[in-house]
Amino acid sequence: MKKRIGLLYGGKSAEHEVSLSTARAVTQALNFDDYDVFPIFITQEGEWRKGAQLLAPVEAIDQLQFGKENNQSLPNNISSFLPSTQGTGEDDNSLDVIFPLLHGPNGEDGTVQGLLEVLNLPYIGNGVLASSAGMDKVVMKQLFAIAGLKQVPFVHFIRNEWKKDQSYWLGKIETELAWPVFVKPANLGSSVGISQAANREELIEAVDLALKYDRKIIIEQGIKAREIEMGVLGNDTPKCSVPGEIKPLKAFYDYQAKYKDGNTAMIIPADVSQEVKATLIDHAIKAFKVLDCSGLVRADFFVTDDDEVVINEVNTLPGFTPTSMFPLLWQHTGVNYSELIDQLIELAIERHAEKQ
Ligand code: ADP
Ligand code: MG
Ligand code: MG
Repeated sequence: MKKRIGLLYGGKSAEHEVSLSTARAVTQALNFDDYDVFPIFITQEGEWRKGAQLLAPVEAIDQLQFGKENNQSLPNNISSFLPSTQGTGEDDNSLDVIFPLLHGPNGEDGTVQGLLEVLNLPYIGNGVLASSAGMDKVVMKQLFAIAGLKQVPFVHFIRNEWKKDQSYWLGKIETELAWPVFVKPANLGSSVGISQAANREELIEAVDLALKYDRKIIIEQGIKAREIEMGVLGNDTPKCSVPGEIKPLKAFYDYQAKYKDGNTAMIIPADVSQEVKATLIDHAIKAFKVLDCSGLVRADFFVTDDDEVVINEVNTLPGFTPTSMFPLLWQHTGVNYSELIDQLIELAIERHAEKQ
């Protein structure tokens, strides 16, 4: 029987456009003999719209006809808006799985995942806990520490603590970390609000900037290292892809380099020793498990010149266009883009069944 897939894409975040490209690529990769595909589009204003079943892959996924009668805003009418799987199965509206193709806040931070849980809908990827823990760089690092993973030293505070006693925090940072440091809002991705600071003056400026995006700030010691990424796929017995290296052409891998320039070099598989590869696999799996991930994760590491493996972060909903790192890592591991989507759908259904 054909599976009914709901594609949830667009969204209010800065990554709206990326989400549209991903949704387009996914519809092109899905085999329409195996799946019925239903678009659910969130506009930049945050309005939810559902469209009719797609009968073929589409180019301009944002220009589909979305019926006016289906143009509702959440959360007023959540339960009637999204179909439920609890129906008879013959219900024209039922879906077997939702594929959330949303990045950033309200997309990969556990909020949408919570909504889908409430509606008892199976969905691809990480659950509420992993998504929200993975979105908060401080919580994520605290969990990594529990798993015994090596990381750069860091200091963190919230806006009010900084305002109350800035000199305490400056002193702490200068004592515990070495320059340069990286200043980051705890809860964003795509390098938004992140800057490097080489002295006290730059640090204060960087904190001011980061505080525009979040009330919680993390300051990390800078590390000079290669950036190596691992794809992890699975539920209770996750598997790792080959490692891939990103070579940013700028000072550090920022939003521009990631999404706009398209000239960042990706080297897959990364040239690392067998020992480093084994450590990367071990650490990627430990990171996946300590956050209680499911479906997929991209685990990002620093590897120093003397082959020290230091975890940077995991991304619970990594970039998923066919030219993004995660799908390319799996392609080089023998799983092509369509097969990857098939596997993610199976994993979502398996995870949902286990919860019942
Ligand atoms: P995001 O979640 O926005 O991707 P990251 O923590 O991965 O945030 O930081 C973005 C980029 O900044 C990294 O890919 C890396 O190039 C650089 N970077 C971040 N932290 C450090 C650090 N402690 N030392 C050196 N480079 C860093
Ligand atoms: Mg990230
Ligand atoms: Mg990153």
